[in-house]
Amino acid sequence: MQIKLFTKTRWRLASWYALVLALILGLCGLVVYQVMIRAYLVSIDLELESVTGTLHSVIEPNLKQPGQIEPVFELVLPNLCFTDGCYNQQAYSHAQLAHNRHGIFSAVYKDKRYYVRFVDTSLKVIAVAGANVNELPSTIRTDVWQTLRDAQGNRYSQKSLELHTQDNRTWGYIQVGRSLKELDNRLLALKLTLAFGLPTSIFLVGASSWWLAGLAMRPIDRSYKQMQQFTSDASHELRTPLAAINATVETVLDLEYLSEKEARDTLISIRRQNLRLSSLVQDLLLLSRFDQKTQVTDRQQICLNDLISDVMEEFSALASNADLELSSSLEYSQPVYVLADEDQILRLISNLIANAIKYTPSYGYVNVTLKRSNGDAVIEVKDTGIGIPLTEQVRIFDRFYRVDSNRSRSSGGSGLGLAIAKAIVEAHKGSIKVHSSPNKGSNFIVQLPICSTHEQLH
Ligand code: ADP
Repeated sequence: MQIKLFTKTRWRLASWYALVLALILGLCGLVVYQVMIRAYLVSIDLELESVTGTLHSVIEPNLKQPGQIEPVFELVLPNLCFTDGCYNQQAYSHAQLAHNRHGIFSAVYKDKRYYVRFVDTSLKVIAVAGANVNELPSTIRTDVWQTLRDAQGNRYSQKSLELHTQDNRTWGYIQVGRSLKELDNRLLALKLTLAFGLPTSIFLVGASSWWLAGLAMRPIDRSYKQMQQFTSDASHELRTPLAAINATVETVLDLEYLSEKEARDTLISIRRQNLRLSSLVQDLLLLSRFDQKTQVTDRQQICLNDLISDVMEEFSALASNADLELSSSLEYSQPVYVLADEDQILRLISNLIANAIKYTPSYGYVNVTLKRSNGDAVIEVKDTGIGIPLTEQVRIFDRFYRVDSNRSRSSGGSGLGLAIAKAIVEAHKGSIKVHSSPNKGSNFIVQLPICSTHEQLH
């Protein structure tokens, strides 16, 4: 069920990533395509405009009669073709003659890119020069800018300018066309690149989106598994005392007669299980409040030396019952102050000392030290107990994790003590770590930021 949900979510995420990226890529492709078309067109039009303008300004001052050819035409465009026959058939081959014989307008003939037409006022072509002129549409129009297509489908951009005689009568028109073949070829190449490149990049984007979605899902997957583990552990822990209470009640109910002592023993047993249950629920609630950052902390400046010696006093009886030596070195000459919630710090130190006592065999030692280091208060709870294997050390701060569940449970441990200690330390912007070797002992080290100065308080 969980795998299905995660795969579905991963698919969805990957599809959205891919869609968004494909849209962005598509848009970029379109913009590049449009920008390139515009840049080419602008450069072609500028070139055409300059050729047309130059021809126009060289020829126009020499015109005398409308529609009449002057010597300047041949001077400027040596291969100009005047007759109808020539216009229809020979202009192209004529234009193919040696380019270097075309004077200053060799560009007109070069690479068969240009054609020039002279049209009289009745829109009849008088003279032509250049490439493929015979394949252009026979209807002549005189719009300044036109795009024409010849019989083979090649496109031309054409500029027309009116020519005037010296006495300012309309002579006719000069029309200069430039082949767009080069542009069309480039655009075709660009279109092909986009047509093949886009699907390939979308495929790559899809694959990387799938990988990215997997990466994004990993912490969610991890926390989901942790949550599931937590729920199952919590249910298990709650079920144990509940089952014990249930069993006790069932046994008593099965009895025909219950003596006062038996009744008291039963109630004591139920109370013990009940206490275990409520302490477990309280711990769970506390952790959940830390998780949601809703745990109210009553921060005040507290003297760690005093607090630790109070806790030591509380645990002294427990330690001596367990035949352990509980000692401390607190350096009273230099009291250490922290800004903290007293109850929480009390709980933190108690958990560590309780564990040290719990996991240290008789005749062992438990020592608590307090010192300063780089602006931090350092509390160390050291024991000569059973120790923790290296592989387990990273997990002991996890909720409900126990190295030896039987031993821990029999001594009343719920597996939440160190998780709570860690939550308290983190809520106080400190750190907790452990150094331990099996059968040698453990050293839990807590670091908490020291409050600026004690004097400021007074
Ligand atoms: P518990 O209630 O089981 O003690 P904790 O969260 O306090 O739960 O500790 C988690 C586990 O870490 C314990 O079950 C125990 O295996 C190990 N542990 C904690 N403190 C010590 C210690 N001082 N020495 C050896 N093992 C320890």
